[in-house]
Amino acid sequence: MSSIFDLTINELESVLVSNGFKKFNATQVFEGIYKKRVSSFNDISNISKELKEFLNKNYSIEYFSVIDKLTSSDTTKYLLNINNEQVECVLMLHNYANSLCISTQVGCNMGCAFCESGKLKKVRNLTCAEIVGQVLTIEKEENIRVQNIVIMGIGEPFDNFDNLCKALSNFTNSKGVNIGSRHITVSTCGLVPKIREFSNLEGQVNLAISLHAPNDEVRNKLMPINKAYPIKEVMEAIDYYIEKTNRRVTIEYIMLDGINDSVESAKELSNLLKGKLVYVNLIPYNSTSSSEFNRSKKENIMKFYDTLKKNNIEVTIRKEMGKDIKGACGQLRANYLDIK
Ligand code: SAH
Repeated sequence: MSSIFDLTINELESVLVSNGFKKFNATQVFEGIYKKRVSSFNDISNISKELKEFLNKNYSIEYFSVIDKLTSSDTTKYLLNINNEQVECVLMLHNYANSLCISTQVGCNMGCAFCESGKLKKVRNLTCAEIVGQVLTIEKEENIRVQNIVIMGIGEPFDNFDNLCKALSNFTNSKGVNIGSRHITVSTCGLVPKIREFSNLEGQVNLAISLHAPNDEVRNKLMPINKAYPIKEVMEAIDYYIEKTNRRVTIEYIMLDGINDSVESAKELSNLLKGKLVYVNLIPYNSTSSSEFNRSKKENIMKFYDTLKKNNIEVTIRKEMGKDIKGACGQLRANYLDIK
């Protein structure tokens, strides 16, 4: 039996039509599962007994259980049991909105040197239902609605492109979760062909690029993917996305002490980004017990920030949330598997 959340509305329409039901039944089912959040198809009051029987026979309505939950004042990190895999997501309560950071894979194969997720190799891709289900599960668990989704948890979203796209469709569809595409951000380590494909999609989902270095020499040491898609190609793909969508791209830049945080690096980064519709988000590194890297000193972060500003590059320093609760990508899952 498969999860109903695996289907986009178009897919459900064709399943229903080919089984003798009406196209508009798909809208009724979507509204039942996404708007009313029914836990049984029998609770969708406006559909026929036959359709209920068909759905009960072929589909489940799957929510996940919470294995572990760590809370600080403004951030809660969850470890979910998703079909016997452990998956992380993080809820951040800002005063203007609730943001949920979700995962796309179990583990990750990108192997970034500083990242905890990559220490645990990819076990498998999450399905569309498992990506969508993270949002539905947390909303139910906390009895809230999420206004922003950031796809920055464990995994490389563009290494699971088809399921990602289906999930985005269910998030943005007005009959589905109904979150505007401008309130969703996908973060990638820079899989160039997929950035281009993503740019061609309908809708205006935001793009964030984990750049983390101003040149190939430094980036090669931090991110193996740079050998396949060096910075120049990533920049061209960013230009393409901007041309297609006219949306501003976020450049993520982790500040690593003595590695990429000099004023020289800031100047190099400014030259690289000059004139582009981007802004830089400086991320104070969350050091982990097994990491060889250290977070940049505060004064160096400030100097780096000032240098970008002086060069007319828009820049913010990421507000730190969840540091005390193992907020770094992959930390909670890694800890859990260690303990086990
Ligand atoms: N694979 C995607 C999304 C997951 S990683 C990507 O690379 O963008 C989400 C972000 O967290 C990335 O920018 C990643 O580089 C960053 N990150 C990973 N480990 C971190 C740590 N210990 N401290 C701060 N940021 C980290």
